[in-house]
Amino acid sequence: MWLLLVLTIAYGCASVPHTGRRQFNMVPDAQLNALGTNAFNEIAGRESLSKDEHVNSAVKRVVERVTAAAEATDKPNFKWEVRVLENKDPNAVCLPGGKILVLSGIIPYARNEAGLAAIIAHEVAHAVARHGGERVSQAVTVNGALQLGSLALSKDGGKLDARSKRILGALGSGALVGILLPYSRVHEFEADRIGQIYMARAGYDPTEALRLWERMSQIKKPPIPPWLSTHPTDQDRLRKLREFLPDAMKIYNDAPRKHGKGSDL
Ligand SMILES: [Zn+2]
Repeated sequence: MWLLLVLTIAYGCASVPHTGRRQFNMVPDAQLNALGTNAFNEIAGRESLSKDEHVNSAVKRVVERVTAAAEATDKPNFKWEVRVLENKDPNAVCLPGGKILVLSGIIPYARNEAGLAAIIAHEVAHAVARHGGERVSQAVTVNGALQLGSLALSKDGGKLDARSKRILGALGSGALVGILLPYSRVHEFEADRIGQIYMARAGYDPTEALRLWERMSQIKKPPIPPWLSTHPTDQDRLRKLREFLPDAMKIYNDAPRKHGKGSDL
């Protein structure tokens, strides 16, 4: 009991950068990052990688700039890596520890490097703010079967078992394991805001984030079930992005280097 209490105090009381929200996080970073790395290797090893040179080099460039901005701002000290997967889903994820997967289906929506920077900065922000850890913590608390000590991905006949898929869903890679688990409104707004800061500091025009989310709002999404009604609407998201834009523009104007929209994709 005391051990649990100490763990809760040690890991439970963190606050999110830039928003100051207190968060409940029971999973130690080292464990969460190891889980992210395992999941990254597992997924990247089984999916086919994109061979599009133009896209791969643009993704690499954007990831370098955005993650440098995240490190300069919040020092997450991640070991960043990225793979572009050949997959028609318009999606991307940054797993704990800085492991990024970009699905080729999102490239037409990104349209240019700045749009891509908005997507990647948003996903990186989810990871730096430890949103996946918070969701896994909730699962651990709600479902005693998920023991912290054994928080690893396990396989059943070579495939990830149902529990591992649930963990991956909680870490934001639902698109790749078939478990729909959108982030809550609080997590989405936080990732949008922190993402705007990262993309602006990386030297990408933050007004492109609004254009990106306008394009993303055209995507026909599966209907959100009522228990997920805390997911933000596209209108809410665009309103909040617009509200924060003047602050993001200040950061952009002070950025060491400016790339504007960057090259087209
Ligand atoms: Zn998100």
